[in-house]
Amino acid sequence: MPAYPIQEHKFDVVVVGAGGAGLRATFGLAQKGLQTACLTKVFPTRSHTVAAQGGISAALGNMGEDDWRFHFYDTIKGSDWLGDQDAIEYMCREAIPAVIELEHQGVPFSRTEDGKIYQRPFGGMTTHYGKGTAQRTCAAADRTGHAILHTLYQQALAHQAQFFIEYFALDLIMDEEGVCRGVLALNMAEGTLHLFRAHGVVLATGGYGRAYFSATSAHTCTGDGGGMALRAGLGLQDMEFVQFHPTGIYGAGCLITEGVRGEGGILRNSNGERFMERYAPNAKDLASRDVVSRAMTIEIREGRGVGEHKDHIHLDLTHLDPKDIHEKLPGIAESARIFAGVDVTKQPIPVIPTVHYNMGGIPTNYHGEVVQLKDGNPDAVVPGLYAIGEAACVSVHGANRLGSNSLLDLVVFGRAVANRCAETIKPGAPHKSLAADACEKSLANLDRLRHANGSLPTAQIRLNMQRAMQKDAAVFRTGESLAEGVKAIRDIHASFADVRVSDRSLVWNSDLIETLELQNLLGQALVTIVSAENRKESRGAHAREDYPERDDEHWLKHTICWLDEQGNTRIDYRPVHMYTLTGDVEVVPPKKRVY
Ligand SMILES: Cc1cc2nc3c(=O)[nH]c(=O)nc-3n(C[C@H](O)[C@H](O)[C@H](O)COP(=O)(O)OP(=O)(O)OC[C@H]3O[C@@H](n4cnc5c(N)ncnc54)[C@H](O)[C@@H]3O)c2cc1C
Repeated sequence: MPAYPIQEHKFDVVVVGAGGAGLRATFGLAQKGLQTACLTKVFPTRSHTVAAQGGISAALGNMGEDDWRFHFYDTIKGSDWLGDQDAIEYMCREAIPAVIELEHQGVPFSRTEDGKIYQRPFGGMTTHYGKGTAQRTCAAADRTGHAILHTLYQQALAHQAQFFIEYFALDLIMDEEGVCRGVLALNMAEGTLHLFRAHGVVLATGGYGRAYFSATSAHTCTGDGGGMALRAGLGLQDMEFVQFHPTGIYGAGCLITEGVRGEGGILRNSNGERFMERYAPNAKDLASRDVVSRAMTIEIREGRGVGEHKDHIHLDLTHLDPKDIHEKLPGIAESARIFAGVDVTKQPIPVIPTVHYNMGGIPTNYHGEVVQLKDGNPDAVVPGLYAIGEAACVSVHGANRLGSNSLLDLVVFGRAVANRCAETIKPGAPHKSLAADACEKSLANLDRLRHANGSLPTAQIRLNMQRAMQKDAAVFRTGESLAEGVKAIRDIHASFADVRVSDRSLVWNSDLIETLELQNLLGQALVTIVSAENRKESRGAHAREDYPERDDEHWLKHTICWLDEQGNTRIDYRPVHMYTLTGDVEVVPPKKRVY
């Protein structure tokens, strides 16, 4: 192996990722006086958060009665009782100050007549514990993520955090005691290697939607943090729960926000029927995402799909006032025109359930500290390592996330992690020396891939993986499809040994970067399908036809799945936190989930 000179940097905390979660943590840390670096593979304002459309939830009650305890209840029910109730309490209560803070920082929210933040109804959001409809989702038209991300970046710059832009984080640097000491990264423009020493490493690397063929997420959503965690020997939690958004544009996969249904849009089958009335008599088109995605899939299977192949559904907005569409949903009108060729004021949008969000991820507590099962302790903290945002599994979303709860999770836990680091890390504390070979394994991996001379191009292996995931880990799953999927993904995972990279340079080598990303995706695809095959019940987004009911007796627990270097997986479980943080809310015991 050639020598790879490494430049060393020392910080109190290093944040990997500059999406909503990473930026909120970065400026919070800088604000608390910690020397903070933020590494990001794309320019901060290009992170996937920029694409979030519909909004961010908080029980502000600006447009009707609301209470954070209703939000707490809805989130638990939405999670199909797999969410940790202490963390959910924390998030829903903190939502109110978090959104007001965003407003003060300059997020240009849409407004009501009297100048308050505009709020729209979203799926699964109710008042009085399931009785009424809550208008809880705070929106900046249909470009809420864009508005939030830009504001957070401005705040991070104002607080003098140091950015390392277009740096690709390769691996966590862990010591013999399992403490995280830093992260190794590649400066993609120069091809130089950088070791960031830190007392805290915060993974805010987003989801891994690109393990699937059709996803609403950006091509950069390759779950690099989860990949790094697996290589560091850590287990990932609840990876079987993958959210399909009901309304991705048929063919293109681009998202049409749930806000469209919040503003009155209706799903129709080939008979023009508003079929959601049959599946969710109360919430109708605004039932939870897993419920709506399943209903659409059943309609298509039973021959009531639309289009030449009867393989999709219509989302109808033609009855809405064009003025409202123009004001509240300008972005989706444009997306529908460009990607589906329809004028939403005159024609329905062709839509299909599309992979959208990963409920699973790196397990953490509500401070953002990474936790693992250790010596019988299910909540043992991994010193020096934190995870937030879609990369993490707190778990506030459990088996199914409610729309607009992710942007909320980003800012609430981004802030929480900054507070936790400020409590536990002394600014400027000296760094312990590292073993001389601390970076060896990661460098050897980089070098091997850079010179990989096999027979399968990266793009081919990626396509094989995406097609297998799309086919076998879909909206509905069976023991058979999952067993096939496990075998297929195991083979594809193993075929990575035969990958071919054709560019050998280190400067802007997109072939190499995509190969590193594929390696991260493959590990997560494998633990996802193995965890799905293992869970013999239906809960939230995990719908098994061979086990159609939820089984609390056996499966009210978090899956943890590890992956070793030989590609072997191992599964164990953590208990769900069925307790709250304070006496201000009561534990919501499991019951049947109907909308
Ligand atoms: C189209 C779309 C619309 C959505 N709409 C909504 C909505 O309206 N409301 C809602 O609540 N949720 C919504 N979601 C979900 C929500 O937007 C995402 O879950 C959330 O934005 C993820 O934020 P994040 O900060 O965790 O990661 P991201 O925003 O994905 O950012 C990841 C960051 O990590 C960096 N990174 C990754 N890997 C590396 C690496 N190896 N080295 C260095 N840096 C790295 C990237 O550069 C990037 O800065 C939507 C999602 C999509 C895809």
